[in-house]
Amino acid sequence: MRFQNPVFIPGPTNIPEVLRAACNIPTVDHRSAAFGKILHPMLANVRTILKSDSASIFVFPSTGTGGWETAISNTLSAGDKVLMARNGMFSHKWIDMCRRFGLEVHVVETPWGQGVPADAFETILSEDKGHEIKAVLATHNETATGVVSDIAAVRRAMDAASHPALLLVDGVSSIASMDFRFDDWGVDVAVTGSQKGFMLPPGLAIVGFSEKARACVPGADLPRCFFDIRDMEKGYAANGYPYTPAVGLINGLKASTDLLLEEGLENVFARHARIAEGVRAAVAAWGLKLCAHSPDLYSNTVSGIMTPAGNAVVQRASDRYDMAFGAGLGEVAGKLFRIGHLGSMTDAMMLSGLATAEMCMVDVGIDITLGSGVAAAQAVYRREGTGHAKAAA
Ligand SMILES: *Cc1c(COP(=O)(O)O)cnc(C)c1O
Repeated sequence: MRFQNPVFIPGPTNIPEVLRAACNIPTVDHRSAAFGKILHPMLANVRTILKSDSASIFVFPSTGTGGWETAISNTLSAGDKVLMARNGMFSHKWIDMCRRFGLEVHVVETPWGQGVPADAFETILSEDKGHEIKAVLATHNETATGVVSDIAAVRRAMDAASHPALLLVDGVSSIASMDFRFDDWGVDVAVTGSQKGFMLPPGLAIVGFSEKARACVPGADLPRCFFDIRDMEKGYAANGYPYTPAVGLINGLKASTDLLLEEGLENVFARHARIAEGVRAAVAAWGLKLCAHSPDLYSNTVSGIMTPAGNAVVQRASDRYDMAFGAGLGEVAGKLFRIGHLGSMTDAMMLSGLATAEMCMVDVGIDITLGSGVAAAQAVYRREGTGHAKAAA
């Protein structure tokens, strides 16, 4: 296996050289003022990227999955009822975790390819007069299908029902790549990880808590130890962790968030939108369909492309061209392949991915014309140029 090519999986994403270097630092005393000078600016940057003025940010040595566990175990108690839609593999896995923690999950089964059904949530919450539902869980961007959900609409549904439940949001494959508005959307806990929009190696769970969510912590009785945010708060107050932190990755996250803020959040989002539009133009030119059912659901970080030869495309890319695309997961396994287009990604990189996807598709017998998708994406990319995407390379 050679490593010259970028990856086009929806995480882990490509790591810019400057961030690889930032993760590689000499040993720093992790209970020193020197560590505090990395930690505190990093936490402030993450808060800015979440678009929050007041969220408490916690960064655990873990992954997005540990972020899920942090969100539920710090705010909920055994037997609590929570509401969640299942519309892909990642929502499915968070539901499974809730059940293993002894929560009672009201699951709204939703076609894979659709978004979180805010209207159905409003009905369910309105009927929950006794406010037994303690939290609404939502996957902002379903990485398995390439579907983005409208979290503002979920918040409106909760408000329309005058329901006091917490809103816990998985933004693992959206935060730092697509607009995420912690304060405006009334998010109580946001969860992400280091290896997607933040362009770092895997290894960090990144979590934001609202004051309302923080106030639930003392009364929440789900078992937790490593992920107890109260221990982390005490650590941060003394420039440290309750245990040995992943100092290199934390320095990487400081550098990554500096890079994102230097490019400008809105420019980062526009870059992802433009690259994604090129991918979608290619898919249309191939005569194929996306898994996402309608344009309002199109994700700007990952596209699921419907074809029964999806697995063969992914296999061919790996075997023949040293390139990685995403396979189908769960219910859509064998029905699609995925192109990840988030993180450190440029128009030119994307064109190489589309050109290689075309070779793989023709190789495995899919009836498309070589160059057709590339040309369609080129038309999108020529319209704007990539001058403002410089900081991402
Ligand atoms: C990747 C991903 C996760 C899981 O994150 P890990 O870091 O692999 O634990 C959770 N949710 C979504 C939406 C993801 O894309």
